[in-house]
Amino acid sequence: MAILRFNAMQEIFSRQPIKVVMPEGKASDYFAENVFTTKAMQAYLSEEAYKAVLEAREHGKRIDRRIANQIASGMKSWAVGKGVTHYTHWFQPLNGATAEKHDAFFEPSSEGSVLEKFDGDMLVQQEPDASSFPSGGIRNTFEARGYTAWDPSSPAFLIEKTLCIPTIFVSYTGEALDYKTPLLKSLAALDKAAVEVCQMYDKNVTKVNANLGWEQEYFLVDEALYYARPDLILTGRTLMGHSSAKDQQLEDHYFGSIPDRAFAFMQELEVESLRLGIPIKTRHNEVAPNQFEAAPVYEEANLAVDHNQLFMDLMAGVARKHKFRVLLHEKPYKGVNGSGKHNNWSMSTDTGVNLLSPGKTPKKNMQFLTFLVNTVKAVHDHADLIRASIVSPGNEHRLGANEAPPAIISVFLGKHISQTLDDIEARVSSKKMSPDEKAELKLDIGKIPEILLDNTDRNRTSPFAFTGNRFEFRAVGSSANPSSPMIALNTAMANQLREFVKDVAALTAKNIKRDEAIFQVLRKYIVESKKIRFEGNGYGQEWKDEAARRGLSNIAEVPEALKAFLSEKSVALFADNHVLSHRELVARQEIRLENYIKSIQIESRVLGDLAVNHIIPTAIKYQNNLIENVRGLKELFGTADYDEMATPHLQSIKKISRHISYIRKLVVDMVKERKDLNPTKSVMDQAQGYSRKVKPYLESIRYHIDKLELIVDDEIWTLPKYRELLFTR
Ligand code: ADP
Ligand code: MG
Repeated sequence: MAILRFNAMQEIFSRQPIKVVMPEGKASDYFAENVFTTKAMQAYLSEEAYKAVLEAREHGKRIDRRIANQIASGMKSWAVGKGVTHYTHWFQPLNGATAEKHDAFFEPSSEGSVLEKFDGDMLVQQEPDASSFPSGGIRNTFEARGYTAWDPSSPAFLIEKTLCIPTIFVSYTGEALDYKTPLLKSLAALDKAAVEVCQMYDKNVTKVNANLGWEQEYFLVDEALYYARPDLILTGRTLMGHSSAKDQQLEDHYFGSIPDRAFAFMQELEVESLRLGIPIKTRHNEVAPNQFEAAPVYEEANLAVDHNQLFMDLMAGVARKHKFRVLLHEKPYKGVNGSGKHNNWSMSTDTGVNLLSPGKTPKKNMQFLTFLVNTVKAVHDHADLIRASIVSPGNEHRLGANEAPPAIISVFLGKHISQTLDDIEARVSSKKMSPDEKAELKLDIGKIPEILLDNTDRNRTSPFAFTGNRFEFRAVGSSANPSSPMIALNTAMANQLREFVKDVAALTAKNIKRDEAIFQVLRKYIVESKKIRFEGNGYGQEWKDEAARRGLSNIAEVPEALKAFLSEKSVALFADNHVLSHRELVARQEIRLENYIKSIQIESRVLGDLAVNHIIPTAIKYQNNLIENVRGLKELFGTADYDEMATPHLQSIKKISRHISYIRKLVVDMVKERKDLNPTKSVMDQAQGYSRKVKPYLESIRYHIDKLELIVDDEIWTLPKYRELLFTR
């Protein structure tokens, strides 16, 4: 095995960047060429069918069978014209991946010939076997069947020779088994509630979209090194490895130029993304060595999520071609920054207004403040749920580790906006305002600059920061499906906006003028949600202390955090807004707990195996060399000079023995903990057991392995070291 490490290094020395064949023309020439875009629809669909898709997309109108047949036929012609032979429903089950089941277009006809067939039924619904996807107990009642159903709001696209149709995935009994179903429901709830609020300011608004602009961080590692690290292959992260003498201290990677091979990878990834209509725009190095980031232009949230999922799939494929592996794990390497996914979230109207963007007039700014204050209130009221939406075994290593926001949810607004909210708090009261007071306040609100230069993105330590025209939720894990936090956020916001309408109505019913009622309600929310606002350094210990004083929760442990899914408040929230039923929430919590247990179980097994089969034998080999050497010294020099010469060796021999015996003992103890936990009936108890009793061994065993790495001869060390994984390119 040792050979693998050196062979890997040799192999990499001869690597050249793979030449990327750039398509002819400008990006706009091939943008979305593999997507059934509105333009393609116009060319391939009848006027009637085309209109039906648009109606479905914009207003959720149902498409009837006859029209569906027409659409399917047009879609097929378009796809077959591009050499496509198969189609699949493409969906996002709760295992975090994307799933597809390909069927060929061709069908034998009764006359014995074959013909290409794809009709409305095949477009609208498929019946994949649900039993191989996690269902959290929903499925095993009696029916393993699940249905996928077409989501006309996200366009079909081509991967290789397959037509992919974005779909939702539900059980036979109608429960959601995926991310998309509740996402669409949360978007509908938000649309409805937000339109109602918008209409207080502008009657022309009939539709509000939530937007998502994601930023995706990732690591690249050469595939030869990857293959020499069983822990990377099996768990996505390194379970051992002493820190490299140099890693990110000099912060020279962030501003450095992109290494050649990585650059070639990015170029190809971008071309493939653009072809699929993913508007990828930004690429740069990240803080850690061999860490990078990509970001598209923001889009409507459902589409943006599909694009992020697709992008992660593309990354894996393109990386292979370039002899890389892409690591999406939140913490592949100890001691250097991990990877996150920033979810930039905003809302906009069909009248072209970004509701989180200050405007030119006092009225526009009142609307802006209404949405801003309601967001803060929603996050305040549902902070635990929002955190629960982003926890995962990988993200647990990252949150609060002085590189990512802590597990405390707080909101950063920037100086200007904070001041405005403080102002409203000070100047509004339940006492009737005089016309002068009101006019003055409105005037001041009108002065919020359209572009908050001082404000945009100055605080990178906040998990939820207002950055001028959107909120940036930065605690999301790099490997996560971004739907999960979007579902929580949209639903909390929808609920909050409905509350707002009710609260304002209650005051106007008492003959308070509407503008005054709005001021009073906003003031009430500002006061009630004050404790979640924080402008300082989110990474410091002082904030943890301060947050505790404020009564904000700080739950870093995954199972504990997941309890928020089933709190009375969350259950009511999801039920009231028709997004997830109690049963669906139970299932979702269970799936995440199971995933947590399995992840730690696998890591613990892999570490145990590597410790016993790689590390200990290597350490013994080196120890034997030392013993041999000591014997030789004794033979050559006799006892007189020998003492001085041999003492350091003897110490090393002893040290090695000590580390080996610790490792052996810790591995045995760890296995015992696992065995003891396995019969545990409740998943929550078992997950907490894994978190509290098994997980600590991963660190303590690693400690001794990393010490051995420093002692043992480099030439016989079998596993690629951090300096190789992080700096070879
Ligand atoms: P930074 O790295 O400073 O956070 P980037 O420019 O890398 O900023 O990323 C900004 C992200 O925010 C992009 O994905 C972009 O599309 C997105 N974004 C910009 N404006 C909005 C908006 N109004 N709503 C949602 N996302 C937005
Ligand atoms: Mg960002």
